[in-house]
Amino acid sequence: DAYLSAIEATNGALNAYVAVTPDIARDMAKASDSRIAEGKAGVLEGIPLGVKDLFATKGVHTQACSHILDGFKPEYESTVTTNLWNAGAVMLGKLNMDEFAMGSSNESSYYGPAVNPWKATGSDEKLVPGGSSGGSAAAVAAHLCAGATATDTGGSIRQPAAFTGTVGIKPTYGRCSRWGIVAFASSLDQAGPIARDVRDAAILLKSMASTDAKDTTSVDLPVPDYEKAIGGSVKGMKIGIPREYRVDGMSEEILALWQQGIAWLKEAGAEIVDISLPHTKYALPAYYIVAPAEASSNLARYDGVRYGLRVDGKDIADMYEKTRAEGFGKEVQRRIMIGTYVLSAGYYDAYYLKAQKVRTLIKRDFELAFEAGVDAILAPITPTSAFAIGDKELAADPVKMYLQDVFTITLNMAGLPGISVPAGIDSKGLPLGLQIIGKPFEEETLFKTAHVIE
Ligand code: GLN
Repeated sequence: DAYLSAIEATNGALNAYVAVTPDIARDMAKASDSRIAEGKAGVLEGIPLGVKDLFATKGVHTQACSHILDGFKPEYESTVTTNLWNAGAVMLGKLNMDEFAMGSSNESSYYGPAVNPWKATGSDEKLVPGGSSGGSAAAVAAHLCAGATATDTGGSIRQPAAFTGTVGIKPTYGRCSRWGIVAFASSLDQAGPIARDVRDAAILLKSMASTDAKDTTSVDLPVPDYEKAIGGSVKGMKIGIPREYRVDGMSEEILALWQQGIAWLKEAGAEIVDISLPHTKYALPAYYIVAPAEASSNLARYDGVRYGLRVDGKDIADMYEKTRAEGFGKEVQRRIMIGTYVLSAGYYDAYYLKAQKVRTLIKRDFELAFEAGVDAILAPITPTSAFAIGDKELAADPVKMYLQDVFTITLNMAGLPGISVPAGIDSKGLPLGLQIIGKPFEEETLFKTAHVIE
């Protein structure tokens, strides 16, 4: 009830939830109370969570914040949310996001942007909570849920966490099942939690992760008790500092914070080593070929027949065209066009195939660093702190917006886990985060190291 009244009081200003489900929340909470009374409490018993609108929730609003999915209520529940409910968690509602998870500011949502609960000191300007999981980050930061589900295809968990002073982890590709999550770029998409601290994130990920026969890319590996890793020593760990993780126009304060992070880990007994990930600069351009290519294929299913919106036309082709023209927003249409182009017969080798080769080289960079003895990598997450909603420079040039993810996208290309941990406040009074990148399926190392920094 406390969370539901907080949502009622604040959601009008923050636009974090696009659908609130008070009846479901109260029913689930009652069931939790009975299980507690019977001594059958799960690990998340009674914990109220928000769900990114990308996760299918049975009988409940699931629109990926797109107009084209108008009125869509799935007949099924995603594996990740099923796992959470099985552990006793309670659903508060569905959270705002960039349309189909395409964006870095939550401004491409059909429902309008979610608003960052943080403001710069002395300013009333509304800031973005980051994206695409902007609603998840804003809701967690503003206490409108105890934790939230999110997804990360190119930074969408870690960048919003950094912009809102929350913790977000993108686990290794395959750690969580993608079944029932609206697909954006299937070889990159991965679910993870956004939470208020590292411990909460560890507890949530433990429940979200599972192997799943319905997603053949989910791995059949035991899910460790991540919480146990917290408080462990980083003494003797080798932390790599990638020299390429700098860009023009980057905040000096983030560079200084990175140095501070190095100092904290050194103090805790870690060994710091300089490393090179030479193909880093190709990650962004390669991502913007691979991700739109996969998106153009995944989004072909929205044809006005199977789901949501239909705009009538004079014949079936006309109906498809009108539905897709009206149903998809500008950014989504841009991605579909890029994706269709790079996959077309004449250009496939020049763009898509080449990008896949570059992807292998990016992965190899990380493998070489790990083979040389590096246990984890410390890096920035974003080039700047949260920016204003409607920032003219970013709105006018999509490539500038894409640059938001220059430090986060490499991991998705390599399938590696990464955590975003709040590490400081800049001179504007806004939160800043740092990123720890780890070896495949070694999320425990990330939780342990992040806890030293938080
Ligand atoms: N901002 C990136 C994009 O727009 C990443 C989004 C994501 O991780 N879902 O594609």
